[in-house]
Parts: sequence; structure tokens; C-alpha cells
Amino acid sequence: MYTSILLAYDGSEHSKRALHAAIECAKLSPDAQLKIVHVVRFDHFEEGVFSQMTGMVSRAEYRELMLKEGEKILSQAKAVAEDAGLTPTYEVLQGDPARAIADFAEAHHVDLIVMGRRGLNALQELFIGSVSHRVLQLAKSAVLIVK
Ligand code: ATP
Ligand code: MG
Repeated sequence: MYTSILLAYDGSEHSKRALHAAIECAKLSPDAQLKIVHVVRFDHFEEGVFSQMTGMVSRAEYRELMLKEGEKILSQAKAVAEDAGLTPTYEVLQGDPARAIADFAEAHHVDLIVMGRRGLNALQELFIGSVSHRVLQLAKSAVLIVK
């Protein structure tokens, strides 16, 4: 049975379904620990997209805003998990999402990563999103992709 379960959560409908699956998996074992992470990236700032949209925002302010947004996204998952009687840990990670998820999983001896098939960018035609696809390549643990 899986006892260290990592849910990668981006707030999308897909990741909400993944959250429910992760809760079900965690409930299967009394020893199971659920960890929920959201990854924020700052490279859009470098690309100038954000500053073009909003005028003048410093790098530090942008970072602060993104981290706050990340906390907000995680708080939605928190409400659902706690309603289900679980006490997960929550963490906002930074960097390339797939690499951050795979590195976190390895560092925390995760034995199951749970994620959605697609995420916030689900309009594209590919069957599976790039983050799920790359986590499948990078992860050393089992990965559950929820449809
Ligand atoms: P794209 O490749 O354009 O981003 P997408 O958004 O449809 O396409 P993914 O980003 O691969 O697809 O999302 C698939 C799953 O990966 C999500 O349901 C979620 O579980 C996880 N995920 C994606 N982005 C993040 C993130 N920033 N933090 C945590 N989990 C994420
Ligand atoms: Mg995405």
C-alpha cells in the first residue's frame, strides 16, 4: 500500500479530480501521509508578459504575488482534504513544475504521485499535458494520472 502520497495541484478541474483520487488512496492505509504541492514559476516575469500587462512590477513584487496566489490555490485543496478527515502537508514550490514535483517526490521518499491528465491549459489538443508527461519521465515512484 502507498504510504507517502504526493498530489500535484494546480487548481484545475483535472487536479480537483486528482485530489479526490489522492484522498481515496490516502484513506486506504492508516499510516498514509498526503502531501499537496503547487509549483509557481517566475520565468513569465523574465519574458516580460506580466510587466507588460500591469505596468511596473518589480521582480520581488511579482514573486510575492505568485507565492500568495500559490497559497490561495493550496487553500482550496486544504478545505477538501480536511473535510475528508485528512491532515495533509502543503507546500508552494518554485521553478519548473515537472522538475520541482519529481525532485520533491524523491527528496520526501514519495511512493505515489497523483496528478491530473491535463491542467489549466486544457484547450490544447494534446492528450496529456506537458507537466504530467514530464513527471512520468522524471519520477522514480509510481504515478497515478487521473482522467
Ligand atoms: P500544459 O502542458 O500546457 O501546461 P495542461 O495545463 O493542460 O497543459 P499540465 O500542466 O500537464 O496540463 O497539468 C496536468 C496536471 O499536472 C494537473 O492536473 C496537475 O495535477 C499537475 N500540475 C500542472 N501544473 C502544476 C503546478 N504548477 N503545480 C502543481 N501541479 C501542477
Ligand atoms: Mg499546465
